[in-house]
Amino acid sequence: MAKIIDGKAVSLEVKEALRDKCAEIAASGKRVPCIAVIIVGDNPASRSYVRGKLKAAEFTGFESRLAELPEDVREAELLHMIDGLNKDAGVDGILVQLPLPGHIDEDKVLDAILPEKDVDGFHPVNVANLWLGRPCTVPCTPKGIIKLIESTGLEIAGKKAVVAGRSNIVGKPVAKLLLDRNATVTIAHSRTPDLAALTREADILVAAVGRPGIITGEMIKPGSVVIDVGINRTADGKLTGDVDFASASEVAGFITPVPGGVGPMTIAMLMENTYDAWLAMQER
Ligand code: NAD
Repeated sequence: MAKIIDGKAVSLEVKEALRDKCAEIAASGKRVPCIAVIIVGDNPASRSYVRGKLKAAEFTGFESRLAELPEDVREAELLHMIDGLNKDAGVDGILVQLPLPGHIDEDKVLDAILPEKDVDGFHPVNVANLWLGRPCTVPCTPKGIIKLIESTGLEIAGKKAVVAGRSNIVGKPVAKLLLDRNATVTIAHSRTPDLAALTREADILVAAVGRPGIITGEMIKPGSVVIDVGINRTADGKLTGDVDFASASEVAGFITPVPGGVGPMTIAMLMENTYDAWLAMQER
C-alpha cells in the first residue's frame, strides 16, 4: 500500500515558514509582501481558486489586493490596470486568474506583467530563463510538484520520469525541472500511442492530463512515486484526479491524493514566489 504524500501538511509547513518571515518583516517596520490578484468575470472554478489564494495571503500575513472586473471588460482597461500595478512600488506580485474571456488576448495580458512581478512564472522571459537554466520565477504547480517528490526522500537523479500532459503551465515546466534534477524524462501527450507502456517504466509519474482515472494501478511501476495533478469534477460535484486512486495506491510507493495533494502546494508556491519577488524588490 502506497504512502500518501500529504500536500496539505507540506504546504502548511511552507506557509508557516512564510508567516514567520512576514511577522519579522512587519516587526521591523518594513512593508510586508503584497500580491495583487485580478479576476475577470465570474467563472465559479476561477472564483474558488482566487478565494484560496487570498486566504493563503491572509494566513501568511501578506497584503493582498483583489480587482474584480466584469466579464465584458475591455482588454485595454485590463492592460491599463496591469500597467498601474507594474508601476506601484507597493505591489510585489501580480496574478491574473486564467482563463480570460474570449475577447481578451491572454498572451497580450501575460506579456504586460513585469517579469519581476510575474509570480505565476508565465511571462515569456521567465519561461525562457527556466529553459535556459537561468534565475527565474518558477511556475507554482511544477515547483510544488518537485517539493512533493522531494518530500518522499527519493533521489530524483538517474530516475526515469514520465510526465503525462504537455501544457505550458504544468507538463512542459515540470519536465524541465525534473531534467534539471537529472531524471531521464519522457513527455507523453494526446498523440502518444501506448501511454501504459511508458508509465509502467516510470519511477516518477506525473499525471497532468485532465481526464479522471486515466492512470490505473496496472499502468504503474511497483514502488514508484505518483503525482496526480488532475482536478476533475465528477457528476456529483466531487473533485477527482487523473489517477484511479484505489487501484494505483495498491501498487505505487508514494501517491498524492486529490484533493489535498498538488492543489494546496500550488497556492503555497504562489506565496513563496510573492515573498521572493518582495525580497528581490528590497534588493533593487
Ligand atoms: P491541459 O488541459 O492544457 O492539457 C491536457 C494535456 O493532456 C495536453 O497536453 C494533452 O496533450 C494531454 N493529453 C490528453 N490526452 C492524453 C492522453 N490520452 N495521454 C497523455 N496525455 C494526454 O493541461 P493542464 O492545464 O496542465 O491541466 C491538466 C490537469 O491538471 C487538469 O485537470 C487541470 O485542472 C489540472 N491542474 C491542476 C493544478 C493544481 O494546482 N493542482 C494546476 C494546473 C492544472
